[in-house]
Amino acid sequence: MPSMPFRDVIGHVRLIDLLSRSVAGNTVPPSLLFAGPAGVGKHLTALAVAQALNCNQTGPRAQGSGLGAPGSGIDACGTCAACKRIARGVHPDVLLVSPGDSGAIKIDQVRDIVDRAAYRPFEGRRRVVIIDEADALAYPAQNALLKTLEEPPPSSVFILVTSRPDMLLPTVLSRCPQLRFRPLSADDIAAALMARGHNETEARAVAATANGSLGQALQASAGELVESRDLAQRVLAQAAAQSDPARRIDGAKELLTKVAGGASDREQLATHLRAMAVLLRDVEVLATHADERTLANPDVRPALERLTTTYHGERGTRAFAAVDRALFALQRNAGVKLVADWLVLQL
Ligand SMILES: [Zn+2]
Repeated sequence: MPSMPFRDVIGHVRLIDLLSRSVAGNTVPPSLLFAGPAGVGKHLTALAVAQALNCNQTGPRAQGSGLGAPGSGIDACGTCAACKRIARGVHPDVLLVSPGDSGAIKIDQVRDIVDRAAYRPFEGRRRVVIIDEADALAYPAQNALLKTLEEPPPSSVFILVTSRPDMLLPTVLSRCPQLRFRPLSADDIAAALMARGHNETEARAVAATANGSLGQALQASAGELVESRDLAQRVLAQAAAQSDPARRIDGAKELLTKVAGGASDREQLATHLRAMAVLLRDVEVLATHADERTLANPDVRPALERLTTTYHGERGTRAFAAVDRALFALQRNAGVKLVADWLVLQL
């Protein structure tokens, strides 16, 4: 059973502190925008706010190993009936809105929550409306929401969650104080994975290729990402040793290898390519004698050293840019095989 209070949120120390204090001081703004990359904990934080506002047994927020100083914010218990129902998404005063099958949040959905938010909470203290993927609000739906954001019902809090705040109308943005969630550190992700039972080597390898997203790290299982990284490393080494284009295309076949059970060919290739991008960044760190503590893959350092002889300087930069373009092309639905073939010829 998930509990989800502030103490369960990984990272974002400053933001959590701010939110926890505003709950304690009863100064949570009527509308908030949680912006930042996918999979870093924005939705969980929104649930934690809802819990802290409605928990039956809030207490001082635990900071680090001990309890916080007086006035340092409060946290939900995570175990009372209200907390449990919020975590399960069935609390009558915590309304969750997300895009339907169409990929859009419809104007009817917005009208519905706007109506419901006008009433006093049924059981809780504050009604909380969490709009996930708020960038999926079409402009008419955003306009329908705007009036409520301008004159918010006194006991409601609207939290808009998005990785693409640029898709929201300036009028909406101007009504919602924005909290920016940053990518998580590799250390935080590794710690979270270890807490879920992964061993340290696995956890660090996965964390290194997860782009600061715990969601991404959890999605691909540990063994699979390590395989992706090994595979990306082999393809780079092969391209370094081989200038004959026909032979290089063999490397493209390797890039199309499937290691993850459920992932589509497109997702799979994207995972391999992200692993490759991180390796190339590490090679750059070694080649430029930058701070080695920033290496994402220190455990495969000998292999990185070997790659450095080829992929230093301009060729490394070019390869990195090519991987980036390939990832972009994949997002834009370019053919998977075409992208793999093109890429190995650019390395
Ligand atoms: Zn509680």
